[in-house]
Amino acid sequence: MNELLYSYTDPQGHRLGLRPEVNLDRSPVVVVSAENLAIGGEHVTAWLPADAAQRLDAALAGRDGFEHTDQSGDRLVVAPAEAWTTFEITRAEDDDEPSATVRAVVLSARLPEVRRSLAALLGQEPPTNDPLATARSAAAELLRQTTGSDLPEWRATFDGTAAEPNAIAPICTDPDHVESEDPSAFGCCPEPIIPVDPPLVDYLVALLNADRERGESA
Ligand SMILES: [Zn+2]
Repeated sequence: MNELLYSYTDPQGHRLGLRPEVNLDRSPVVVVSAENLAIGGEHVTAWLPADAAQRLDAALAGRDGFEHTDQSGDRLVVAPAEAWTTFEITRAEDDDEPSATVRAVVLSARLPEVRRSLAALLGQEPPTNDPLATARSAAAELLRQTTGSDLPEWRATFDGTAAEPNAIAPICTDPDHVESEDPSAFGCCPEPIIPVDPPLVDYLVALLNADRERGESA
């Protein structure tokens, strides 16, 4: 038996595990296991061929439910809830062993780890867990409302009367304002106009505009 590539033990002492295996035809399999760590506790597994493992990954990404019954009749059921996701594996009864079910409860915040392990087991690029990408998409919601663009171009501007730029803002696309080339912020300009210490203005504008390219290719 291969070593677990991923394991997570829930507060009730139930361990979810992922490990690689190969079928007789050498095709890759992800073995999902659930083990009750109490003495005499059950240890059950479900075998997922690559396509099922990919469906599991997509279900985790979309917070959807997932079910798979493998060739031995062993069954994995994944049920998402608000703060956690339940992985339940039921062993089919056979000549050697009775049926058994073990349930491991994984905090939703841990799901990116599970997905990264699945991706590694499938030999794929891991899903992005880039904090900048997460923050960028959170900001996009506001910027889309005020500027019509998820990733607007930014400029230096003025917050009130000042000798030098002391604020940053998305560029204004109002035709009259564009024509006047006035760096001030007027009623035509999209929010937010963010006051900034003058020495930081150029730096923050440059950073945000540089990030547009990263964000657009993400
Ligand atoms: Zn304007």
